[in-house]
Amino acid sequence: MKVYISGTLYEQDEAKISVYDHGFLYGDGVFEGIRCYNGKVFKLQEHLDRLYESARHICLEIPLSKQQFADAIHMTLQANKLRDAYIRAVVTRGAGYLGLDPRKTSNPQVIIITDTIALYPSEYYEKGLEICTAATIRNHPAALNPRIKSLNYLNNILAKLEAVRAGCQEALMLNHKGEIAECTGDNIFLVKRGLLRTPPLDAGILEGITRNTVIELARKSGIEVQEIALTRHDVFSADECFLTGTAAEIVPVVKCDGRPIGAGVPGPITRMLREQFMALTRE
Ligand code: PMP
Repeated sequence: MKVYISGTLYEQDEAKISVYDHGFLYGDGVFEGIRCYNGKVFKLQEHLDRLYESARHICLEIPLSKQQFADAIHMTLQANKLRDAYIRAVVTRGAGYLGLDPRKTSNPQVIIITDTIALYPSEYYEKGLEICTAATIRNHPAALNPRIKSLNYLNNILAKLEAVRAGCQEALMLNHKGEIAECTGDNIFLVKRGLLRTPPLDAGILEGITRNTVIELARKSGIEVQEIALTRHDVFSADECFLTGTAAEIVPVVKCDGRPIGAGVPGPITRMLREQFMALTRE
């Protein structure tokens, strides 16, 4: 697979950046995970907007216009002859000295990796996931705002380690107020009496592009959607639960902290939204 680094395509083994890059030394950089379905990059503009907003927040100037970035993504897909792919776009702060100061860095690197998509095994889509609450809370928005999709994912990784140790597929992360935030790489939705509920952005979450798409699909189908503070009680007493993300798409959750959710099987609204999402991405 060929990898794009700052204007050049390299063979996978030759795709390298400096060990002095602050992206590597400090997680100082931003990224996006994007999908390409049947030759069409899904919600590319939305992903680029989020990437550039994350970069703006950390005062990182991306050395390409959004159009040039989009062209680079398409060029990389073409070079790898991929029509269905997962795309990882990364922008690093660039190489500098062994100090934090971003002013001492130069040449932010733009990296585009494309690959075939590795989804959850299909049984999880049919039977649903089991999740558990992590003791590690989501980053406090005043410390490191989860709306920045930065290269520093240790907060999520610590929670993921807890899930793995507990034998669960995903970890539910709470915020500093004890409310539901999101999972380590996905947003969370609940269904209660026909209503769709998801934590609001000020719960301290990433504004998921799949999340926004699902909200739109639900409203179009006449399902009321509330972005509202939620607790574990709401999860335990929900009729249905599912996660959304670029890689996972829409995946049902049937158990949380050992409690079955609803009937303990993927629910009808989850299944309907999943079908609509599949139709939208593969249209
Ligand atoms: N939350 C976190 C922490 C994530 O890493 C992701 C994946 N990018 C999501 C939510 C889902 O976002 P999206 O639907 O844009 O992939």
